[in-house]
Parts: sequence; structure tokens; C-alpha cells
Amino acid sequence: MRRAKASVDPELVEILSGALSVSRERAERLLESKATRVLRYKSVRYITIRRDISGHYEGTIILISTRTGEYRKVEGYPHIKRVLLLSKAVPKHFIDDVVVEEKMDGHNVRVVRFEGEIYAITRGGYICPYTTSRMRRKYGRGLERLFDSLGDDLVVGGEVVGLENPYTRYHYPEAPDWDYFVFDMYRDPLDFLPVDERRSAAEEAGLRNVRELGRHPKEEWARIREVIEGLEKLGREGVVIKDPYYRVEPLKYTTSFINVHDIEQGMRFPFDEGHSFIFPRVLREMFKAVEEEWGEERVRAEAHRIGEAIFLPAVESIYKYLRGEPLAERFALSFASRDEMDEYISYAASLGVPVSVISIEESPDGSLRAVFLKHKKTEDHYRRIFSTGLSPLD
Ligand code: ATP
Ligand code: MG
Repeated sequence: MRRAKASVDPELVEILSGALSVSRERAERLLESKATRVLRYKSVRYITIRRDISGHYEGTIILISTRTGEYRKVEGYPHIKRVLLLSKAVPKHFIDDVVVEEKMDGHNVRVVRFEGEIYAITRGGYICPYTTSRMRRKYGRGLERLFDSLGDDLVVGGEVVGLENPYTRYHYPEAPDWDYFVFDMYRDPLDFLPVDERRSAAEEAGLRNVRELGRHPKEEWARIREVIEGLEKLGREGVVIKDPYYRVEPLKYTTSFINVHDIEQGMRFPFDEGHSFIFPRVLREMFKAVEEEWGEERVRAEAHRIGEAIFLPAVESIYKYLRGEPLAERFALSFASRDEMDEYISYAASLGVPVSVISIEESPDGSLRAVFLKHKKTEDHYRRIFSTGLSPLD
């Protein structure tokens, strides 16, 4: 449904048209449509761009000061192409040398400073109040130093990992609760700092970098396979392969471990992540099997492993439903105060994310740790299936 035209603020039309270099008419239509959302976090109003629009990526965000009306556009983080065949893609795509960085499995966060305040922006282009608070508490000082020396037009890109986040669940021994690992720095419009410059800038500011796992001529692509084999044993996600000067875009490649692990995790909620997870990951394994010449025995073992990853959690999810257990994702978050927790809960509600608190542990200093459940639509599908006996698919 289209919102009434009268609700479009002419000031926002002006800002969006300037920020995206589109006509006022187009900006007005975008503001009326689901392609944008206008939200607020404390003294910042912002426009989130929810799909690619005239050369700007989904997740682009325009921050607007409620005091001065000044605005700043932060470009969305670009999609990274995936490699299926290392032997083909690496020599073909890169220029000379490649830097192999660890790809960490968490959620993408861009950090910026706007009007003297640090903000943490999610991949989708929202200021996450929870991530912003934790970022300020842990790295506030270092980030201030970084923006002081490199300027406020800088965008820091990195991965938040650790279990205490609302978005992803993957355990890293070096960051069990919450941490931030820098992997990019850029200035608008996507002008990236060379790898070495970025790594030393992050280090000087006391921030953590993702690990560098190798650097060599592109012809030595087989060394990336060795790196992957090492990560395989440790149960880690994979690598992002980069040109040291970002003259060409990075590429990503992941371990069999994570490909199968994600299927298994996703199939705990077949109607949510499950179905869309399967084919892309089976495809990755198909080409890995051939490129690495696995042979019949290993292919058979892998077939078995993939089959179990698909089917076991899926069947278990039905039994879980029948036992009356909620089909929901469980996660814990730590807050400095009850206000912070309330802020997160209203943020989740404003995005239509169904979370509920199931327990709260309060410390004498006022900080707290709360356990949440995020409802999954798989449960609603099961309810309908058990009442009608019919499939929602063909
Ligand atoms: P997309 O496919 O659009 O990139 P996605 O969330 O499916 O989105 P992933 O498969 O997780 O993407 O791979 C890209 C993401 O990997 C980046 O957005 C970033 O959050 C994360 N990442 C982790 N480590 C690195 C790294 N060293 N360099 C770049 N990105 C990294
Ligand atoms: Mg990821």
C-alpha cells in the first residue's frame, strides 16, 4: 500500500535527491515506497535504502542531523562474488599479487562518526542501538583516534562476532562474547584504503584486524587451498581474497565445514533459512569435489554428510514442534542498563522482528544480561500443516 503523499517531508525529498543524485520526483516516489525507510536513533534521523537504487547498494544510509539538518550518505557494503573454482577464478580475476584474509562468520557492521558520535550500521543500513552501545563501550576511544587522524569521511567495515549479538550465532574462541574485527576502510564512493594502510591504521587505533593468512602471486592459487584445509580442521568459515590496492573487487571462498554446518543450522528452521540455504551450498560442494578430485569414497562420505545435515535437523524440528517446544532462535545480549535493553526491544519491534525476553539477570551495577527468543515462521507452517494436512509447496 502506498502511503499518502502528504506524509512525505519536503526536506527529506531534497536530501534524498541530493544524496543519491536523483530527481526530486524520483526521490519523492522512493520515499513513498518500500524502497526506503525513515527512522530515528537519538539525535539522528536516517533514511535506509532497502534495494539497489541508481548505482547505490542496498543498505546505503543517509544520516541527517536533527539539529542542523546536515546530512551524510554512507554507501552500502558491496556484495562479494563467490569462487567455485579457485584454479580458474583466482588467476583470471586478479592482477598480480593477492592477499588472503580470513572470512569471519558474524555480521557486517560499518562504523562512522557523525557530528562527533560513533554509530554502528548493519548490513541492511540500520543504526543498531545494541551494536552501537557495545562498540562505543569497547572501542569508543580507539575509534575517536582513528577518525581524528583519518577524517570523518572514513567508513570502517568489519565483522561483529561472538555469541552476544542479535543476528548470528557462531562461536570464536578469540571472541566468545562480542568483538569487532576490521576488514575494510573506505571513503565515499567506495574508495578503499590499501590493505597495509588499513591494517596499520586499525592497529594504531587499538582495533582488531581480521587475520591475514597469506600473500602471494595469483598463480600460486593452490596455496589458498592449503589455507582452506587448515581452516577446515579448525571449523572456521573461509577466506576473502583481495587485491592489495583494491584495484579489482575481492572474492570469497568457504570451507566444506561451514557449507555443511550452515545447511545443518538452517534446516532447524526449514521454512526460514533452510530451503534457500541448500542449493547454493550443495553447488559449492559439487565443484569442490571435482576441483579437488575427491574420488568416489570421499564423494560418498560427503553425500552422506550433506544428507544428514539436511534431513536430521529437519525431522527433529517437527518433533520439537510436537513436543510443544517453541521453534525459535535463542540468544543472550548484555546491556549496560535497562534503558539500553528497552531501546533494543523497541528497535527490533520497529523493524518487525518478533523477539521476546524470556529471562533477565541483573547485576548490582545496573548492567544486565537478557535471554531472547526470535520467533520463526516454520512454527506457523507446521501449525497449518498439522491442521489441514496440506503442503504449502507443491
Ligand atoms: P553478500 O553475498 O551480499 O556479500 P552475505 O552476508 O551473504 O552477503 P557472506 O557470504 O557472509 O555475505 O560474505 C560477505 C561478507 O563477509 C561481508 O559482507 C562481510 O560481512 C563478511 N566478511 C568477513 N570477513 C571478511 C573479510 N576479511 N573481508 C571482507 N568481508 C568479510
Ligand atoms: Mg557472513
